[in-house]
Amino acid sequence: MENLPILQFEEKIMETVEHNPVVVIIGETGSGKSTQLSQILHRRGYTNSGIVGVTQPRRVAAVSVARRVSQELGVRLGEEVGYAIRFEDRTSERTKIKYLTDGVLLRESLSDPELNQYSVIILDEAHERSLNTDILLGLMKRLIKERASNLKVLITSATLDGEKVSKFFSDCPILTVPGKLYPVEIFYSKERPTSYLESSLKTAIDIHIREPEGDVLIFMTGQDDIEKLVSKLEDQIRSLEEGSCMDAIVLPLHGSLPPEMQVRVFSSPPPNCRRFIVATNIAETSLTVDGVVYVIDAGYVKQRQYNPSTGMYSLDVVQISKVQANQRAGRAGRTRPGKCYRLYPSRVYQDEFHDVTVPEIQRSSLAGSVLYLKSMDLPDIDILKFDFLDKPSSESLEDALKQLYLIDAIDENGSILSIGRKMAELPLEPSLSRTLMEANEYGCLSQALTVAAMLSAETTLLPGRSRSTEKKRKHTALELPDGSNWGDHIQLLQIYELWDQADYDINWCKDHKLQVRGMKFVRDVRRQLSQIMQKIAKESLDVRPNDGRKESQQDYKNLRKALCVGYANQLAERMIHHNGYRTLGFKPQLVQVHPSSVLKTDDEGKLPIYVVYHELVATTRPYMRNVCVEEMRWVMPILKKLEKLNVNKLSGGSGHIGEDTESEILDLPEKEITVTGVPDDRE
Ligand code: ADP
Repeated sequence: MENLPILQFEEKIMETVEHNPVVVIIGETGSGKSTQLSQILHRRGYTNSGIVGVTQPRRVAAVSVARRVSQELGVRLGEEVGYAIRFEDRTSERTKIKYLTDGVLLRESLSDPELNQYSVIILDEAHERSLNTDILLGLMKRLIKERASNLKVLITSATLDGEKVSKFFSDCPILTVPGKLYPVEIFYSKERPTSYLESSLKTAIDIHIREPEGDVLIFMTGQDDIEKLVSKLEDQIRSLEEGSCMDAIVLPLHGSLPPEMQVRVFSSPPPNCRRFIVATNIAETSLTVDGVVYVIDAGYVKQRQYNPSTGMYSLDVVQISKVQANQRAGRAGRTRPGKCYRLYPSRVYQDEFHDVTVPEIQRSSLAGSVLYLKSMDLPDIDILKFDFLDKPSSESLEDALKQLYLIDAIDENGSILSIGRKMAELPLEPSLSRTLMEANEYGCLSQALTVAAMLSAETTLLPGRSRSTEKKRKHTALELPDGSNWGDHIQLLQIYELWDQADYDINWCKDHKLQVRGMKFVRDVRRQLSQIMQKIAKESLDVRPNDGRKESQQDYKNLRKALCVGYANQLAERMIHHNGYRTLGFKPQLVQVHPSSVLKTDDEGKLPIYVVYHELVATTRPYMRNVCVEEMRWVMPILKKLEKLNVNKLSGGSGHIGEDTESEILDLPEKEITVTGVPDDRE
């Protein structure tokens, strides 16, 4: 720790921070930005007048770095040093250094727009260009004008184009911390392998047999592939003749690992033992694993992309950018000269890889972000003209406005409504927030809270979302009460209710192949959501999940009705002659119910006519994941509202939509996209 590059620049950094409200700090990954800057500021007295807050785009990084800093300072985590991520706050009155996800800081700025509890805000990992960090950059620009005398903003990054950010902040100073990188030799494959997994495996074993000691870092695209490679590597290492190679251990590293597994990569290996770390791109810049000498890079990453014209998310395996490839290679040169094996030809790197990664703001749904910005009541704000570092397309901003209008968060002139303000306070996507508000009116808030919590925790509920586990979900051997043909939301509710009736017994989860950790998380999330609802709802609410009575069909009905209002932008109608659906939006599409759904056909082999879906995902074809059955009389008012919509008005006259509301555009996407459905490492 003593020789981390950033520590040699302490004086220079402090001097610059002293004289400037905003400073950009560029330093190689592992130079100590995340762990040391906050401590330097603490030592220099900046925590006397407020908290030093450090944002991270990834939950796992916020937790891991906070843990590390608390150890370095010899204090208990949650006291002087703490962290806050969605649904988990480990801070206290005494907290001076707070690591938090960028999403949490954004939410904090709703209740305290001036962020007065902070004396310093460090936007860390800005090169990741996460949606929330980008929005925070815009907000900081405003805030710094108001709090110039008592707020410092530091923007740190491993690779970011410093000039661009500096210009954005009126030419603020850029400090570059030279990294101590050793040379890394790069080897290219002659051609792209047919299986990147097999090729990574072979390369890893070759290194193990031929190369001297040093850990190996292998980049995979997701949890599924990581698990496969870990098991294959272990098998092959075991089958090597004893004594022919040094010992080896294989460690997975991804965002959904339980915390005790994550920290394993940070502990030193036993002597004469090589570690293989099989990671997602979380190891690219977010977490630095020391001791790596060899990197295997297949050149792929899994990325969530949102298409605003179809409202569809796809989780695509895409090629990384040149910046990412170089970051990955750099991981090999931290302790001594290293080697990077690129499983693609140099021609591919040169000609096919983009120079930089597309910022998330240009590939995400913006409904949640726009709702935040609207409810902040910033003076003179026009969403379409908000000061972004890189502008999102006007199409995606308009898509967000339409969505917010349909769920009553804004009026026809684009002004925020009181219901929208309340929705913004919930740490949920707008559709679920709206559902909760509506459920409160219908007396089924308790049930809606359960559904929202179950959906928020879905990735931890089951051991992954791979195809194999999707199948398992259908076989959870649960005897569900009547009503399970109302779809997946109701099933999620019923699963939780059964656990509630089993007194939250851990063995019950195990018997039904549900992850204990996931179910406990649901319970905790549900409790937190219910507290927030207590705060924002006028009358006090009774949100006990169950009073010993069974859910009635009336409860299900109310809940389905509330979901219809919340998911007004995610409606679909069945085709007359078959069980395919057509989405009822601005650009209708043909979609199918996802195979993992519990929705059943009736006696005539037909699926229900109207459904709402939680998300649209593109795998080999567009699928609705998590659907709920709706009734025509609930759907009609929404269709009427859709007809009346005038986007020009919504976006304050600067929009240009309105022509495309015909429902005849029924093209299936031309491109087939391969996905295995592993959740992102992000929040
Ligand atoms: P940067 O932010 O510049 O990438 P960090 O401050 O994250 O750098 O890392 C500095 C050093 O601290 C690295 O050597 C890294 O391995 C180590 N480190 C970071 N987090 C942890 C942790 N949770 N446990 C152990 N070591 C850590």
